[in-house]
Amino acid sequence: MTNGNRIITIANQKGGVGKTTTAINLATALAAIGETVLIIDLDPQGNASTGLGIDRRDRELSSYDLLMGTHSVEQTVLPTAVPNLSIVPSTMDLLGLEMEISQEADRVFRLKRSLSAAMPYTYIIVDCPPSFNLLTMNAMAAAQSVLVPLQCEFFALEGLSQLLETVNQVRQTVNPALDIQGIVLTMFDSRNNLAQQVVNDVRTYLGDKVYHTLIPRNVRVSEAPSYGKPAILYDLKCAGSQAYLQLASEVIQRERRRKAA
Ligand code: ADP
Ligand code: MG
Repeated sequence: MTNGNRIITIANQKGGVGKTTTAINLATALAAIGETVLIIDLDPQGNASTGLGIDRRDRELSSYDLLMGTHSVEQTVLPTAVPNLSIVPSTMDLLGLEMEISQEADRVFRLKRSLSAAMPYTYIIVDCPPSFNLLTMNAMAAAQSVLVPLQCEFFALEGLSQLLETVNQVRQTVNPALDIQGIVLTMFDSRNNLAQQVVNDVRTYLGDKVYHTLIPRNVRVSEAPSYGKPAILYDLKCAGSQAYLQLASEVIQRERRRKAA
């Protein structure tokens, strides 16, 4: 669609399910495999920016300026410690954005417009806040697909049907081409019987939309952000990093199949 790049929104209205961890590590893994990747941090919390080592003092321009339409990606983007991975960081300014643009007719299409310029990225990964607000709607309107991290716990499926319903609504209104990129199960703990049951249920319910890769609960993955590094840079060998590398190759395989179809 846009310049031949693939825009993937990482969304789930629940907090703490692994959206940001997936955005950072999937993006890093894709970059390591040879893709040129841009992360757009659309969460006012800015966890993706912090987790990639972007100091708050360096966030003079951010995704807020992008959505306000005053600056371009080229003007707001920052390099990261990962080769071929750049980020448009976020700041708390995003909290006020909804109020500021709520009366504008194009309020849902702000991100889409910013991403329509020619850009040197093969993948653009958008990290969303934990709600269906205007920021998430901008991400869904701009994306070609939604990647959904799902934590292996009892209420996972309940939240998922609400999310799939929202994707359907977005299709019927602002983005008919929006696809489900895939569902990735996160924080899997093999010692927990319930977690295995959740995996089985999700696979039964959603079939091949669910990635084969299971992201394990891994302390190295949770430590990495406090060092401002993706897990893949912090500890490449740990089970979590290896799982994200495997997820990236699944994402690329799906892309190849989609393009061939
Ligand atoms: P979200 O962006 O959906 O709110 P995060 O990616 O920030 O979720 O993850 C929530 C918390 O869980 C964070 O503290 C993160 O470090 C931790 N976490 C995420 N994935 C894993 C994992 N695979 N193993 C251990 N901890 C994880
Ligand atoms: Mg997050």
